[in-house]
Amino acid sequence: MATFLFNELVFGPIYSRRLGQSLGINLLPTDYKYCNFNCIYCECGWTGGNNKIILPTEQQFSEILEQKLASLKETGKKVDTITFAGNGEPTIHPKFDAIIDKTIDLRNKYFPNSKIAVLSNATMLHKEKVVASLKKTELPILKLDSASNKTAKLLNDPKQNYSVEKVIKNFRKFEGNFVMQTMFLKGVFENQHIDNTTDSEINAWLKIVEKTKPKLVMIYTIARDTPAENLEKISLSKLENIAKQVNNLGIETQVSG
Ligand code: SF4
Repeated sequence: MATFLFNELVFGPIYSRRLGQSLGINLLPTDYKYCNFNCIYCECGWTGGNNKIILPTEQQFSEILEQKLASLKETGKKVDTITFAGNGEPTIHPKFDAIIDKTIDLRNKYFPNSKIAVLSNATMLHKEKVVASLKKTELPILKLDSASNKTAKLLNDPKQNYSVEKVIKNFRKFEGNFVMQTMFLKGVFENQHIDNTTDSEINAWLKIVEKTKPKLVMIYTIARDTPAENLEKISLSKLENIAKQVNNLGIETQVSG
């Protein structure tokens, strides 16, 4: 199906219900996806190929971001959030820590009231530098799609050793100061049924929410074309029902159906 790539290092701002006027940052290549997951629902398509990995340098990044922020300020535009997203996993960038520091400086200079968000698949949290940088941002948004290793591996196809137990251990480093993000879907992939909304899936997932106490849980489902066919959206009423169970734990939710 038709998926898409972000063809710029800095893009937007784009209005998002979750993040307001969000200026996107793509630290990954602009012509292919570079990720250590290969999620069956990824809007950027399948991970793959033997492309030579060329990432923007810290210098290129700061020049482009500064130009963009200066021009947005000059033209009276609003930026609610500076959001690291794009064509893959932003924390893979070897200069992620320096880039976050630079982003904080530039945010303070041009849009001091805006927040910095990082959408991450949480696979690099074994690196203390990555955790320390994420903690400096207002919204480290960390993915966990299932409490079951089997389901998570089917949904995310991690390229390295991955286990839900390790993710929980790493989430605890944030002492609740993080946002958990979960994609809910069902369907069939490679002849296997997938559904991370069954009662047993949700009960196990809620236990992780309860243990790690994120300050917010973002719940969403498929909104655009996915690389795998035969995947289905989850109804808004079902997502709201899941959110209600999170709210019963005293934790705030945001639902995108
Ligand atoms: S972690 Fe994000 S960028 Fe990577 S494959 Fe999954 S959805 Fe795509």
